Amino acid sequence: MRGLDVVSLTRNLVRHPSVTGSEKKVANYTEKLFQQQFPTSEVHRVGNSVFVRIPGKNRNVSNRRALVFNGHYDVVPPGKDDLWTMGKPFSARARRVKGERVMVGRGTADMKGGLAAEICAVKKILSRGKPEHDIWIAAVEDEENDGWGSRQFSQFIREKGWLATYTGGISAVIAEPTNDMAFWAPASMGHQGFEITFRKGTEGIWEAARFTKALHDQRLLWAEMLRAQQGNTPYELDGAAPKATVTNICSSGEIDTSCAINQIPPQAYLVLETSNNATRDAVNNGVALYQSRGVAVEVFEQSNGRFVLNFSSEGGHAATPDSKRSPAAIDVAAEILCGLEKHKCSLKPLAFGIGKAPSELKDVNERAPAVLIDVRLLGGVGVPPKEVLAFLNNQVAVLHTRMENKFEPLPTFFNDPEKSRIARAIRAVVGEKLACRLFPAACDASYLQGLGGVFLDTIVVGPGMIERIHKPDEYVRVEALRQARNLFINVYEQWAAT
Ligand SMILES: [Zn+2]
Repeated sequence: MRGLDVVSLTRNLVRHPSVTGSEKKVANYTEKLFQQQFPTSEVHRVGNSVFVRIPGKNRNVSNRRALVFNGHYDVVPPGKDDLWTMGKPFSARARRVKGERVMVGRGTADMKGGLAAEICAVKKILSRGKPEHDIWIAAVEDEENDGWGSRQFSQFIREKGWLATYTGGISAVIAEPTNDMAFWAPASMGHQGFEITFRKGTEGIWEAARFTKALHDQRLLWAEMLRAQQGNTPYELDGAAPKATVTNICSSGEIDTSCAINQIPPQAYLVLETSNNATRDAVNNGVALYQSRGVAVEVFEQSNGRFVLNFSSEGGHAATPDSKRSPAAIDVAAEILCGLEKHKCSLKPLAFGIGKAPSELKDVNERAPAVLIDVRLLGGVGVPPKEVLAFLNNQVAVLHTRMENKFEPLPTFFNDPEKSRIARAIRAVVGEKLACRLFPAACDASYLQGLGGVFLDTIVVGPGMIERIHKPDEYVRVEALRQARNLFINVYEQWAAT
């Protein structure tokens, strides 16, 4: 088969719409592509992620190693069609911007272009003969949500014995946009994931105060952390709105999967119990107030004196600035909760969470083991993950709640770049031309580098401008796609040679 062309491959990927949660078609396409392009390799399908291993010559048991090219093909929602002035979101139209050829479409820059460049680079490397070391391509789903695809990949290589096999280590490149390769970022400077779990009090019941305090304090926590990080705010945050990256707050103990990271979920619920008939009016008044602020509220009154309030705000996708943002549903629900407490209202909150109210409400309190706050933290320049974790712990101690870390802080090679083979390789290729700095957003780097008991020596570098992603008229420069492919080839060669 002829060499793959990075432009047409990007186009084909973009024309398979794959908003997070609907990656099946693009996964089918990619699986077939890998089978055709890499016929002597192993292709694995895990969920809607596809992993391919291309065996290298080196079988030396004491120094066997691998390079992983990682890229996600899920994309954030395109937003309203009419905001796309340069071409429909999934049309991959060719355009000119300032005299340069670009491709327009959701995912061109974040990050189907980068993934295509990786695949084409591997194809080119193979055209020169069997590679020295194993090469993997991990095309993953769900990056914009929870990094499930990359976590599955880490688990896969551990469980299938590859982690033990690669005695010489595993390195990884994630082709997220770094302003058309204007810089590269070590994974330890990417985001860190922590989950803060607010446990039930010793008295064994939930108090509304605990929910609301947790909610409000986590805002303060965020503001504090951002300050501590000396102004390194991710693009999602839109100034001083740290709530955008706290994604899952859940009282039912089940993480709502309908919302993606970088999003404020568009729905929330509140279940109230009353023994007083007059409260129906209070509920109605509240509903009217919030509806006037652009949040729809549906109220169901149940025969057992319970009210179920379902809130939905339009354009819950906080990372897509094209949506006119109304207050997030969860904010409204929290505000009502606070109001109830303040006014010692006879409405007693029973349950509160993101998404639609659970249909089975009987045991909702008992089913709620914790309020889970999923914190995506961007490690600031010079703030090692362990310090960030200590900072978090201090903050949470003040809340009289317990914090449970789902993840250990990542090992960091930033302070000792010589330990990173992939960092050495890219330095050797680009010299001082590309700066090494923070990747200013969440990505799968931390899932590859360390989370889940796997350590992949990981860097982030790829085509596309960060300012263009998650917006209408997302595009990538065609020339940047080619440059990325060439960079990946050179980085592989350098990595393999040292
Ligand atoms: Zn991305």
